[in-house]
Amino acid sequence: MTDTHGHRPAAGAQPAAGARMPSARAEQPGAEPAPAGSAAAEPEAAARGASGGAEPLLDIVGLGLELPGAARPLLADVSLRVRPGEVVGLVGESGSGKSTTAKAALALFPDGARPTGEVRVAGTDVLALRGEALRAHRARTVAMVHQDPRAALNPVRRVGDFLTERLALAGFAGNRAAVRGRAVELLAEVGLPDPARRLRQRPHELSGGMLQRVVIAGALAVGPRLLLADEATSALDVTTQAEILDLLRTVRREHGTGLLFITHDLQLAAAYCDRVLVMYAGRLVEHRPAEALFTDPRHPYTRGLLECSPTLDEAAAGVRPIPGRPPSLADAFPGCPFTARCPGAEPECERWQPRPVPLPGDGMAACRRLAEYEPDGAESGGADAGTDARGAAAGAEGVERAGADPSPGPVAVSAPARRDAAPGPVSGTTEGGAG
Ligand code: SF4
Repeated sequence: MTDTHGHRPAAGAQPAAGARMPSARAEQPGAEPAPAGSAAAEPEAAARGASGGAEPLLDIVGLGLELPGAARPLLADVSLRVRPGEVVGLVGESGSGKSTTAKAALALFPDGARPTGEVRVAGTDVLALRGEALRAHRARTVAMVHQDPRAALNPVRRVGDFLTERLALAGFAGNRAAVRGRAVELLAEVGLPDPARRLRQRPHELSGGMLQRVVIAGALAVGPRLLLADEATSALDVTTQAEILDLLRTVRREHGTGLLFITHDLQLAAAYCDRVLVMYAGRLVEHRPAEALFTDPRHPYTRGLLECSPTLDEAAAGVRPIPGRPPSLADAFPGCPFTARCPGAEPECERWQPRPVPLPGDGMAACRRLAEYEPDGAESGGADAGTDARGAAAGAEGVERAGADPSPGPVAVSAPARRDAAPGPVSGTTEGGAG
């Protein structure tokens, strides 16, 4: 079903048949829901994540990343939190800055990049780490699982060599038999059958799913507090993907590990994560509890991503791709970076500096027309949420108003159709390394 402008109503909509429903959130230990209304009182907290709960394992505040020669920052004002046992999703198109944000937890930046802001992992100021302290942090505190497990393993060495090296990195003490025994335990822990035999095998003898389990076993070998999963299941078939997702869920439940889950699949993120952050052009544009994002997306880009995702009942109607292309680092934006692709764009958007506008209950979206997309659909005098002090006021106003009537209603994108008019591409170039 679409609205009068051809857009699918989002608020209150039921996920389509075939869509993967949110399911994992109840399992998180240590992740407490934020008090209702806290976002209004604490806009910064709204931008970073739910307030309250356990101390964050990953706490990024106002992270920016400038790259020489780039027309815009690689990252701008990115703030997020991951708490123990929590799964936080990071979604967006290629080049949106997802991987770059995740790698900040390891202080891994492109050559020449200048980071600003704060990145703390388990209380440690990562950007201040140097030398041996930085090496130890990268080896033991944070582990990263990539899309292609073969890239993480030396093709001519045995699985046992890989795990032995990881255990040595973690400072595991013991003789050869003890190390081997621990390696077998790790492989058994990630569900590999016949783990003793796997130690003697080389990567080409194992399937992609088995290799990803080996990589996760390597991550567990160092006992990381924080796990970064960068498209870790994207290359796997659907049944293996489900097994790996289940394994990661078990890891975070049993070890209290925080998980930053990076994916381009918004529906997967909504199904698997506790909270989801949406990135565009190096900025966070929406941050919500996963189910709210799935059933009631507020930012036009989030809605566009959902409309791009095929579901069984919409297969006949086809998907609605977001027009234009993701911006490159050669594109500078005097205002909202989504203007050229947004169905609701107005001339003022080209001058509006994006900033988080708190949403009722928890979360935020960075859109100056957010008040117009509120549940009652009322046109707000404070619609231009970005004009100086009125920006915060409009956000708070929206929270208060919605707090009086929390029931979700239709989200109407009232502006016509720059989208339907198929505006030209944002840029013809592609961005590298900022995915
Ligand atoms: S309505 Fe304007 S401010 Fe909001 S996302 Fe679209 S272009 Fe950006």
